[in-house]
Amino acid sequence: MHLDYHTLLAAFFLSGCGLASAFLVSWLVSRKERFLVIWTFGVLLMALGALVYGWYAKTMSPVIGAAGYTALLTGLAFVFGAACEFRTGILPWRRVAAFAIVPSIAMAVPMLAGQNGISMILLNLAAPVILFMTAREHWLGRAEARAAMALLTGLYIVTGLSFVPCALLLLQAGEWRLPQAPSNWAEDVNLGICLITLAGIGALSLALNQARLARGHKRDAETDALTGLLNRRALLDHIAHGAEGPASLIIFDIDRFKAINDVHGHPAGDEVLRTFGEILLLSGRSGLAARLGGEEFALLVPGASLVSAAMLADGVRMRLAKRHFSGNGCAFSSTVSAGVSQSDAAVSNFDTMLSDADNALYAAKRNGRNRIAVSSDSTEFLTQFRSPDGHRGPIDLVRLKTG
Ligand code: GH3
Ligand code: MG
Ligand code: MG
Repeated sequence: MHLDYHTLLAAFFLSGCGLASAFLVSWLVSRKERFLVIWTFGVLLMALGALVYGWYAKTMSPVIGAAGYTALLTGLAFVFGAACEFRTGILPWRRVAAFAIVPSIAMAVPMLAGQNGISMILLNLAAPVILFMTAREHWLGRAEARAAMALLTGLYIVTGLSFVPCALLLLQAGEWRLPQAPSNWAEDVNLGICLITLAGIGALSLALNQARLARGHKRDAETDALTGLLNRRALLDHIAHGAEGPASLIIFDIDRFKAINDVHGHPAGDEVLRTFGEILLLSGRSGLAARLGGEEFALLVPGASLVSAAMLADGVRMRLAKRHFSGNGCAFSSTVSAGVSQSDAAVSNFDTMLSDADNALYAAKRNGRNRIAVSSDSTEFLTQFRSPDGHRGPIDLVRLKTG
């Protein structure tokens, strides 16, 4: 089967239009992903540029030639902008405009002055520069998906490199006024490579975007919207897939929270929950912090002894007590109670740990709230938390250990 240059140009145009529609549909489904619509414009302009260039090769009209090349360069600039937007979330408008306008003017001036050879050399040098800059953007974002980003970078580099021999052959010929469009092996290779890489780049970019969306949905499903902590299901998932070994579990429950809502309003209650979430995240860096629901939170600390977990819980308790809130025109503060339990094999004994910690929590509530209770068999434990004058500290021992 013989494929002439014009057939390949038409194939590039059709392939570009097909990909642009796939991107447009993806954008319609998820409109937050602005890079999809920028890429759509970029590829449509490039496809249009190829079509107009085919027309130019037939007519050799300088205006048509300048229009075709301008569309191609502007399309490449948009594709660069889409890569920046994908990596950073910001579209660098000025750089995109500069990449579109500067080479287009530099190319159009000699084209309109009849020196189309110079224009073609400039186009074949400007296109790789924009493509290499696009490759660089994907390379910088490779932490997101190493193999796919490296492949994408490679595809942009190969595409860029395929323009260079076209410029070199034109420079070697040294003719600035060409009576017809150049036709040589470099032009054929360039167009062939562009056809192949366009499809690869399009498919990879869409796949990367889908993977990013899927990660976002997973994160949303695991996160408590109010506090940004893990939710109950995510905590249980992490525990099920976590490393075996000893761990301590602390269950916190904010004291008389219903009254806070009733007296100071629901928004003030939400503020207490958000603040407590921050305190828990900062204090329990070494553990997994989660909101179990309502005003109940958990902190799982791998490898922590009961003593250190109880002290950690007490630190959280004191930090919350020092915070000031306001709602319905009144200032107020809030306190929390906690129950602590421990297991030598947290993954397999998690249910027991949870019920021990819960029982301890109820004991802390019964003992007056704003307290920590520890579920343990050891009576020695209590003495560690007695103040030197023999007064009862804020940490109680609860001999409730089940199992
Ligand atoms: P205790 O000291 O015994 O724990 O008493 P409590 O009032 O804290 O406990 P109770 O379980 O009676 O009340 C919990 C309240 O938490 C009831 C519910 O309206 C409120 N709540 C649950 N989720 C939210 C939330 O997301 N925001 C706010 N503002 N309130 C919530
Ligand atoms: Mg509760
Ligand atoms: Mg409560």
